[in-house]
Amino acid sequence: MRCLVLSDIHANIDALEAVLDAAPAHETVWNLGDVVGYGAAPNEVIERVRVLGTTFVRGNHDRACGERSSPHLFNPLAARSVLWTRRRLTPAHVGWLQAMAPGPVVPDGPQASCMHGSDRDEDEYLSCLSHAREPLRRARTQINFFGHTHVQGGFALEGGGWRNLAPPYSKGEGVETCKVRLRPDGRYLINPGSVGQPRDHDPRAAFAIFDGEEMTVIFHRVPYDLRRAQLRILHEGLPGQLAARLNAGR
Ligand code: ZN
Repeated sequence: MRCLVLSDIHANIDALEAVLDAAPAHETVWNLGDVVGYGAAPNEVIERVRVLGTTFVRGNHDRACGERSSPHLFNPLAARSVLWTRRRLTPAHVGWLQAMAPGPVVPDGPQASCMHGSDRDEDEYLSCLSHAREPLRRARTQINFFGHTHVQGGFALEGGGWRNLAPPYSKGEGVETCKVRLRPDGRYLINPGSVGQPRDHDPRAAFAIFDGEEMTVIFHRVPYDLRRAQLRILHEGLPGQLAARLNAGR
């Protein structure tokens, strides 16, 4: 089965539409959380993604915007966007966020699982190999999709050796893809990257396609109408840093 794996859309409808236009054929969609927060189109994004698939894992922003946790746990910039998002969300969309499951979720057989942070803590950042070692050793599935860091790539344990899966894109512009073959004896933590607020210094929207039969992951980057997303943020009176960081990809 081919899965479109999305994470950290962060209420960026322009990036989401570009990703859905660019995504190759797939049978299902797995969503790793932070559908909302930061961006200016939370209702539009929920409306668009809720019908796309059945596998959703809650992110820390989904939890806070859905009034399941306090915005005061966030830095001031994020807290401001949580409070703005809460005012904007329709009651039905608040209910949808509140019903999202915390990870890990195993969507389709014992092969792969989905989480936002790590399997133990949905707020844990797996930013480098030293963070990933323990979660990967104890993971109950061979392939583990995670988000939260907004950095495309992840980590592999293959034949006793560790490998960083960050895609080595050559151009840094236009549409680019990078295919990773997964070994039957390997163990993987894979981040599809952030659709709506990448933080790996590449402003293009990120996603991945996972093929469980072929045992491949294809990382994708696609440009989108970034200026439009920025203008939405500024028009809503959200902090200018939230618009500026989209350009910088951080
Ligand atoms: Zn996020």
